Amino acid sequence: MTPPALFAIIFAEVKSGEGSGISIRISILASGSAGNSTLLETGRTTLLIDAGIGKKELTRRFAALGRAFPDGVDAILVTHEHSDHSHAVAQLARHWNCPAYLTEPTHREIVKMYAEDPENPGRKATFERIEYVRAGERFEIGDVEINAFRIPHDAADPVGFAFRANGTKLAITTDLGYLPEHVKQHLREADFLMLESNHDIEMLKVGPYPWHIKQRVMSRTGHLSNNVVSDFLSDSEMFDARPRHLVLAHLSEQNNHPEIARLSAEQALAARAVDFAFRGSLHVASQRSPLGPFEL
Ligand SMILES: [Zn+2]
Ligand SMILES: [Zn+2]
Repeated sequence: MTPPALFAIIFAEVKSGEGSGISIRISILASGSAGNSTLLETGRTTLLIDAGIGKKELTRRFAALGRAFPDGVDAILVTHEHSDHSHAVAQLARHWNCPAYLTEPTHREIVKMYAEDPENPGRKATFERIEYVRAGERFEIGDVEINAFRIPHDAADPVGFAFRANGTKLAITTDLGYLPEHVKQHLREADFLMLESNHDIEMLKVGPYPWHIKQRVMSRTGHLSNNVVSDFLSDSEMFDARPRHLVLAHLSEQNNHPEIARLSAEQALAARAVDFAFRGSLHVASQRSPLGPFEL
């Protein structure tokens, strides 16, 4: 029996056992400027998107979701080099003996940043298996089709990802200063959307950050505010309201509050015309505790 056929049978059994017909499962392990990591699973393929927290803390996060640290991951996808997305990539890629998928400029920056593996002092942060991806291109890992798309952020070559598997689409995008047209296109038809809602502009303005950092966060290559997200969510021509789950992500702990972000998004969604109403559920991802799993 070929491996794909075997996997298909195993997953069919998993599905029938649960009686739910799940095609993708998503677990958000951490989200925010202190570390990001999301696990995406189909019956055949397991992907980690961003590696901002190390194995020890990830193990704790998985335990909080009532499960063990995964035995195997097929690939780690890294959106950009900032340490809250890349800190543990060398450690985890080595642990799972899996490739890291990232753009060439992102790889170059990570090599510069981590002369030493932050999770293993004294060891070089080397990756033995690298797969370069390019923004604007589509590739496949197992039964998952992935589109990488460029996002406006102050990193070497940052990307967001859209995934398709078993007829379900997911889009994940955080760390971007605004929502360009091509990004909005990639968010269309998503059954699951994870979108940054980083800061409340008023909280940022009066908050503790130095002025140059405030300017950076608010810039076109910084982070999305609740207001920008609300403008997007309320606009029926921009946002198709298709997601069964909409997750507000990468919230600032200094310059935002989960209830403020949620209220802002709820008001925006409530402002939509009845014919284009959002009927999914709204969630807020957290820096400190995992969210999920979402099963689609
Ligand atoms: Zn980040
Ligand atoms: Zn970043």
